[in-house]
Amino acid sequence: MRIGIGTDVHRLVPGVPMHLAGLAWPDEPAGLEGHSDADVAAHAACDALFSAAGLGDLGTNFGTTEPEWAGASGVALLAETARRVRDAGWEVGNVSVQVIGNVPRLGPRRDEATAALSEAIGASVSLSATTTDGLGLTGRGEGVAAIATALVVRP
Ligand code: MG
Repeated sequence: MRIGIGTDVHRLVPGVPMHLAGLAWPDEPAGLEGHSDADVAAHAACDALFSAAGLGDLGTNFGTTEPEWAGASGVALLAETARRVRDAGWEVGNVSVQVIGNVPRLGPRRDEATAALSEAIGASVSLSATTTDGLGLTGRGEGVAAIATALVVRP
């Protein structure tokens, strides 16, 4: 078995639709800005899976060499990432994702988000959230971050 790690950060911008952890958050006054839907939880999980399988990262897999993935949703990238990991001969053991930021409040929709991410990957996902006591870019509300670990196993 092998473990991998991934992180992601996107800027929080008023008026931008919020997409996070495989869900839309239509009541949020600000959302995450990026070339895609900027779903930091999904992107961190992708990087953790690629890292565990030794397949590079989001940039090497879905970068300028594969323009068909530009603007793809986080869950679409996550499903394709899991497919590539399995194509390389690995099974996904589990993925753990922690979102770091002030918004949105994940607790009330944690089960829904966990289900969306788990369905995309086809394996168990744990989702947690934390804040940073007002410190740093997430504490000041400038952005939202996520960190993820993934375990893959040779069947
Ligand atoms: Mg990203």
